[in-house]
This record gives sequence, C-alpha cells and structure tokens, in this order.
Amino acid sequence: EFGLLSDLIRIHAHERPTHPALVQDGDSLSYAELDALMDRVAAGLQRDGVKVGQAVAICATTSLNYAALFLGCLRAGVAAAPLAPSSTPEQLAGMVDDCGASLFFLDHGVAEAMAGVMDQVKARRIALDGGPAGEAFVHWLPRAGAKPAPVEIDPKTPFNIIYSSGTTGTPKGIVQSHAMRWRHMGPREDGMGFGPDAVSLISTPLYSNTTLVCFFPTLAGGGTVVMMAKFDAGKYLELAERYRVTHSMLVPVQYRRLMEYPDFGKYDLTSFQMKFCTSAPFAAELKAQVLERWPGGLTEYYGMTEGGGGFVLFAHLHPDKLHTVGQPGAGSIIKLIDEDGKEVATGEVGEIVGRSPATMNGYWNRPDKTAEAQWTDPATGEVYIRTGDVGRLDAEGFLTLMDRRKDMIISGGFNIYPSDMEAVILQHDAVAEAAVVGVPSDAWGETPVAFVALKPGASATAEEIKAFTNGKVGKTQRLSDLKLVDSLPRSHIGKVLKRELRDGYAAG
Ligand code: ATP
Ligand code: MG
Repeated sequence: EFGLLSDLIRIHAHERPTHPALVQDGDSLSYAELDALMDRVAAGLQRDGVKVGQAVAICATTSLNYAALFLGCLRAGVAAAPLAPSSTPEQLAGMVDDCGASLFFLDHGVAEAMAGVMDQVKARRIALDGGPAGEAFVHWLPRAGAKPAPVEIDPKTPFNIIYSSGTTGTPKGIVQSHAMRWRHMGPREDGMGFGPDAVSLISTPLYSNTTLVCFFPTLAGGGTVVMMAKFDAGKYLELAERYRVTHSMLVPVQYRRLMEYPDFGKYDLTSFQMKFCTSAPFAAELKAQVLERWPGGLTEYYGMTEGGGGFVLFAHLHPDKLHTVGQPGAGSIIKLIDEDGKEVATGEVGEIVGRSPATMNGYWNRPDKTAEAQWTDPATGEVYIRTGDVGRLDAEGFLTLMDRRKDMIISGGFNIYPSDMEAVILQHDAVAEAAVVGVPSDAWGETPVAFVALKPGASATAEEIKAFTNGKVGKTQRLSDLKLVDSLPRSHIGKVLKRELRDGYAAG
C-alpha cells in the first residue's frame, strides 16, 4: 500500500475544511487554508523550475509558513532539506550547496548568523518571516487560488533530505523517500490514535526527524498540530491543557524539565492518549515517573533518521522493561554483530544492525558513506544498516541500549561502557545528569572521567560522588576524575555532545 500525505491533506480539506490543521501562538491554518497554501507553494516551485526529485533548503525556527512550505514541497514532489539553525554558518552554507537547492528559505535570525558566509550561497533567498533576509515569502508565493500542474511521484521520490544531527561527525544528507515516510505514518493504524480528533503538541524543531515522527502522522490522520517554536515547561503545560492535547513528542531532557516543574500537578492533562519519546537515553526512573504522574500511554522509539529498523517500547504495557528500548518495531529485522561482523549470541553485547522497508535511499551525494553504513549478512546477502550503537538483547527480545561504539572506553584492555557507569552515578541522590567519556591516559590508553550536574537545590562535592561511584564499580572501571558542571552540553534536540566533553577535557 502506498499513498501521498499531500493527497490525504486534500481529502481532509474537503471533508473538514474549517478543522484546524496547524496552530501556533494563537494563529492557525485550517485544512482548507493549508491545502490552498500548499497548492500555491507547489505552483511557485514549478514556476521557478524546481523539478520532481530536486531539493530546496529551509532554515528557520518553527512557524506556520515553515510548516506550510515543507508540506507544499511534497505536493510538487520537491524534497525539502530542513536545516538546523544551530549549525555553524559554514556548515549551513555547505548544506545549502550540498543539497543542490536553487531556492533557500530562511528567516532573519538565520540571515544574521550567516551574514559572513552568504556570498558562498548561490541559491536565491526567500525570507519566510518577510524580514530583511531576502525576497518576502508572501511576494514569492503565486496569487491566491494558484494551482500546480499535477506531477508523478513514485515511492522512491525523495520526500525530504534531513541532515544527520552531527552528534558524532559532519552532517550527512539522509534521503528519506515517500515510501519510507508513508510507512512511518503507519502508527495511524497501529492503535496510536492519530485520528481526526487527535491534537499533537510539538516543541522540538521542525527540522528534526524526532518532531516529524509525530507531525506527519497527525496530519495524515486529519488531526491538529499545535507547534511551539521554543520549549518552555510552563508554556508547554498551558498549551497542553488549553488545547486538550492527546499526543506529544518530547525528548528525555524535556520530560525531565516537566517532571521537575513545580506546578506540573496543577494542570489538567487527562486528555492525553499517547506520549512519544526518542533521540537520546531515557532513564528508567524518569519513564516510571512520567507513567505515574501523567495520564495516557508512553511509547519510546529507538532508531535512526536513516531508518533500517528500530525498537519500540510501550512503556505503559511493560513496566518491568523500562531499562530497555523495547522490541523490534513492525517490519524491523535486527541483529547484533561483533567487531568482525559476526552475529553475537543472545545476551552478548554487539553493534545493532537492522533492515526494514522504511530505510533511507542513501546519503545524498555520498555513496562512500552509504556503503560504510551498510552490513551484508554473509548467509543471505541481505543488506542491513549499521547503527554504530551497541546493546544487548534479553531472552524476550528487549534491547538494552548501551553506547555509541565511538563512545566506548577501552582502558587497560578492558571495555568500559559509559552507560553502565552513568547508571551508577545516577543512583546518587544529588545527581540530575551524568556523562562519562574516555580521555587519553599514559598508563591505560584511555581512562573514564565523569561530568555531573546536580539536581536543583542539591549539594554534594565532586569527591563524594566520585567515591560513591568508585565504591560500586569494578577496579578496572574506576573513574579517574569527576567534574561538576551546571548542565551537560547538548545538541538542538537534546543529545549529549560527548565529543565536546572529551575535547574540552583534553584542552584543560
Ligand atoms: P549523527 O549520525 O550525525 O552523529 P545522530 O546519530 O545523533 O547524528 P539521529 O539519526 O537523529 O542522528 O539519531 C539516531 C541516534 O540517536 C541513534 O543512533 C542512537 O544513538 C540515538 N537514539 C535514538 N533513539 C534513542 C533512544 N530511544 N534511546 C537512546 N538513544 C537513542
Ligand atoms: Mg547517526
């Protein structure tokens, strides 16, 4: 079964024209308005000669125009490349160029940040917020009522190009196809409740796959997406109550902020049906708190923007498995392999590789990187995607996720898993968050050091927490140093940037 999100939105526009599709800061677009705007965007792209399969770049904070532009691209078969404003100006100029965009939609904040590199950008600039960044979006748009010519979109046509978060290296353009996205809209049928009365609240940026995993299925089902340009615990809770929100996608650090928010209990959250989480490690104890204090189910996804299969944990159904990321998702085939590319026995630690019908076309312009990301099963010749993450499967097929391979520490010939160490540190009552990284050591090759942020109002010294930890781990795992920090460095989507911690430590 294959279809187009753009067609579903058109159907909703006919069936419930005045039903709100997108809401932000009190403004909204009904399905009829959204559908008409998508037509105008698609017509504008065609007028400017952008063809099916080509890309346009977008870099801006979340807004109604941004969302409508992204969706309008779909109607023309044009792939949006949504870029993260938190990238460096050089990276942004590089990505606009890399995706081959002839049009670059941006807002004034991005234009300011990129001022020094703008002469390297060949694409025509269009200001989404009508500011001084370029030609105004409203003027770029064809007149009201404009219709695009119908186009042929097949399952492999690029839906969007998402640059990898760059948590571990240079961002690569991940090409997701219409077929892949269509499968991700599957949750509509999987009992997630993405029907016409769903109201989703999103507060992570539109350029992240994390957000889109909730954004697209909501629209596919004819529901309403309430968008926040910037997360704030109090505002989030107000919106959740005001709009009787049923679904939401949040990353672990946001769940933590909400659980720590003093007035959390004062809001009526009984409208919630399902909350989602993905992107970064979600502590079992935090999942338990969310389940206890927040009505509705909790679903955690483990996967990559690249696809290739993933894991799902229905936390509300498996309270005894909260330390895992669940079982393989529908259609996912997963294996764990060792350093030599051989499958490991159940219970052993290995790198996670997966295959599924929802897999990227490949990295844009990077066949070398695409090949590196693949593992071929010697027995069947089937191609899997390598995740670069290591974990362990239990007898029931639940995955305990450990670390990124690049973050593992080898000290004096022993493997140290930072995730094990972090779990021990988190047992200390004063600790809010912890990250362990390996730093060079003359004696051991590498040695573990920890960075720890305390809970608000808590007091403990670095020495105390280090002694507490070293008293609970094996001799070969002992921390050689522990630093107290205000908070851990995180990416725009809340992933801990271990590379920064390592580099910062080495620099003293
Ligand atoms: P880059 O590939 O550029 O370094 P990235 O890997 O962070 O960036 P994404 O595709 O956004 O880019 O993230 C996928 C990664 O996020 C996974 O490989 C895994 O390390 C982590 N991740 C995803 N879901 C979870 C989860 N539920 N729990 C813990 N980690 C997760
Ligand atoms: Mg990755």
